[in-house]
Amino acid sequence: MSPHANLIAGEWVSGTDSRPNINPSDTSDTVGDYAAADAGQVTDAIAAARAAQPGWTKTTAQDRAAVLARTGAELMARSAELGELLSREEGKTRAEGVGEVVRAAQVFQFFAGEAIRALGEKYPPVRPGVDVDVTREPVGVVGIITPWNFPIAIAAWKIAPALAFGNAVVFKPADLTPASAWALADILHRAGTPAGVLNLVMGRGSVIGDPLVDGVDAVSFTGSVPTGRRIAARAIQRMTRLQLEMGGKNPLVVLDDSDLDTAVNCALNGAFFQTGQRCTASSRLIVTEAIHDAFLDRLTREMAKLRIGHALDPETQIGPVADERQLETDWDYLRIAREEGAEVVGGERLDRPTRGFFLSPALLVGATNAMRSSREEIFGPVASLIRVKDYDEALAVANDTEFGLSSGICTTSLKYARDFQRNSAAGLVMVNLPTAGLDYHVPFGGRKGSSYGPREQGSYAREFFTSVKTSYVLA
Ligand code: NAP
Repeated sequence: MSPHANLIAGEWVSGTDSRPNINPSDTSDTVGDYAAADAGQVTDAIAAARAAQPGWTKTTAQDRAAVLARTGAELMARSAELGELLSREEGKTRAEGVGEVVRAAQVFQFFAGEAIRALGEKYPPVRPGVDVDVTREPVGVVGIITPWNFPIAIAAWKIAPALAFGNAVVFKPADLTPASAWALADILHRAGTPAGVLNLVMGRGSVIGDPLVDGVDAVSFTGSVPTGRRIAARAIQRMTRLQLEMGGKNPLVVLDDSDLDTAVNCALNGAFFQTGQRCTASSRLIVTEAIHDAFLDRLTREMAKLRIGHALDPETQIGPVADERQLETDWDYLRIAREEGAEVVGGERLDRPTRGFFLSPALLVGATNAMRSSREEIFGPVASLIRVKDYDEALAVANDTEFGLSSGICTTSLKYARDFQRNSAAGLVMVNLPTAGLDYHVPFGGRKGSSYGPREQGSYAREFFTSVKTSYVLA
């Protein structure tokens, strides 16, 4: 069977190369072969988007809303099938995969509504007879670059607003997870996106990243800090509009007065579910003295009960690490943590009936916030357990990081909850909830090294995907 092709100017176009998409739960299972584009195909895709964008802007908001609504409806109707595909290529459990597809559907439904919402403002004149209108226009051609850990939801929350507001898109998914991206492009194509308005170019970022960044009017990127920095340095040469969502080293503070069940559940979910491969994962558990030992005891007992295995096994709670390279990274950080003086509880490579990248969740007991393993994003099922004296120290440690995406606190004290909400230096704050797990109708994004540019999602998405025009009219 020929590889799944790229979508350029409304046509399915073979790549100049292709690669197999391997199931991380079972490396003997090939999910499919997927095209890899070269720089020339990226240039073609950008040219197609440029040609199609003016026509797309001139369609009615109702037409654009209809395309998004049809996409959302098909995603929802096929959530079981596409969720399984996602689990097969990425390794998250079937339930997590289906949940992600449902989320993508909700995002398209939301932006179908946004497409027809009022976009401008009319101001009262301050000079006689001079009317002032503030309108929003599409940015033009948007390059959308996504990571492997949410291969359909992140693509959805970038593509849906881009199209809703009249932009054309060149979409480059992560090389590791092309199947979900291809399925989404196929649905959008059949839902009636005009030729050239949505283009899919699969392939390695190291090959097609630069021509993509160089050719578009705006780049919306989610991925690691090093890649984000590289894209930013390149994009700024042409003053290209930028939105970067990057890594995290998210703190979960557990205070003495917290409900132990809530705290342990938040830690277990936030640190280890989805194999810890979430930008919002709780990778630093900052626990005050009086509850520390009880928390450690309960958490390690709950960790030992977690069922780790093939993502499609209905018993599995934690799927494999996404690929061999990420597994090696996780493994390396466990070694570093030991050398730094932490005790590693868990963190074992596991044999399962199929050959995959299975790692049990790891807790770094006795960690300090100065250790590399507490400062650098690992992006695996690994969390540092950091003991602190009191709330003030917990807050200081929580904020002592170059990242600022998500943070959480478990407490029954309104005073500490409110204080943390006000003083946490993160874009997202959770009280008695895991640091991961977000809604689609509200803004998403971080501070410091985690994010750059306007927020994603909800009505805030319009800030990036539209350009404001202020018109003065003497009637
Ligand atoms: P990554 O290695 O930075 O890759 C992200 C995307 O950038 C991929 O599509 C990649 O393509 C592409 N890319 C690589 N080099 C490029 C270049 N020179 N120019 C343009 N694009 C290039 O990140 P990842 O490993 O896929 O994802 C994990 C990271 O994403 C973690 O740091 C995580 O925290 C972050 N993340 C952040 C959020 C958030 O919203 N803040 C959400 C999810 C994940 P290839 O796959 O072909 O290399």
